[in-house]
Amino acid sequence: MRSYSLIAPAKINLYLEIIGDRPDGFHELAMILQSIGLADRIDVKVGDTEAIRVRCNHPQVPTDKSNLAYRAAELMATEFPDAYAKYGGVDIAIAKHIPVAAGLAGGSTNAAAVLVGIDLLWQLGLTQSELEELGATLGSDVPFCIAGGTAIATGRGEQLSPLPSLDNIYIVLAKYRSLEVSTAWAYKTYRASFGNSYIKDKEDLAARASAVHSGAMVKAILHKDATEIASKLHNDLEKVVLPAYPQVLELRETFAKQEGVLGTMMSGSGPSVFAICESKEQAEKVKVNVTTAIPDPDLELFVTQSVTHGIKVASSI
Ligand code: ATP
Repeated sequence: MRSYSLIAPAKINLYLEIIGDRPDGFHELAMILQSIGLADRIDVKVGDTEAIRVRCNHPQVPTDKSNLAYRAAELMATEFPDAYAKYGGVDIAIAKHIPVAAGLAGGSTNAAAVLVGIDLLWQLGLTQSELEELGATLGSDVPFCIAGGTAIATGRGEQLSPLPSLDNIYIVLAKYRSLEVSTAWAYKTYRASFGNSYIKDKEDLAARASAVHSGAMVKAILHKDATEIASKLHNDLEKVVLPAYPQVLELRETFAKQEGVLGTMMSGSGPSVFAICESKEQAEKVKVNVTTAIPDPDLELFVTQSVTHGIKVASSI
């Protein structure tokens, strides 16, 4: 095959707890991640030239080396120089549907798709864990995006424990197009305000991370109960983002007031906010009602649902 078209789903955080600092400057996290139906389409094909080339239909997304998809291709070229020499360059086309800089792992899922796509294109036969290991060098969310579904993520977010699939959770997602929250700022501000409560002891850190495995959210997921899941949503970063961004707070409060909303939370470091709804119909109604309550053309809303997969091949030629 000379070309693969891949589906690259976004993720939301059902749970995000900041446990402590790490010597590498990142934070020790305990998260529960969920893939959703909102996805980008990534076409990966053997290039006409020796180069790596990225195109994207979204003006905010860079197409140079700062694009995570480009970096994924570059990593594969470095790791597998013989295959790169044999097949030549790589052409990557990104059709963006996932809001950019939204806390939805848009860049990470694109990078994951490129790793999977090049593995197929160059017939490398890498295992999932080999792909995840490569992904971890690009970004903390990349390993999860490869297999997707529902998983506990600890460490920087790259240590994964899969959970049973959740396929019927209906979600409304909202983001102000022009509003961005820097992930680095959110973590730095959290550290400044709450860093004194961080756990320093290694054993305590491990115990706290493993407590998530037996915690209330995991139980709710095992029961596949949307109401229970929605009541256990948690994100430590809300403590710094909501006070600093009144628009995000307003969105969060507006969702919480809607009939049929079981629970609402900011995803990752924001600024996107999601709500879990009783049904698809209810989710559609919530979308309409929130659009009426906040009639701002800058606000975009999506109705989507949990999915049980990460990167998926849609077609190949
Ligand atoms: P995460 O949830 O993993 O923190 P995010 O959803 O908050 O990520 P992205 O959509 O990945 O954020 O975008 C963050 C920044 O990365 C953007 O400002 C954008 O310029 C840059 N970027 C690089 N590559 C990509 C890509 N393939 N898709 C989207 N943004 C990208």
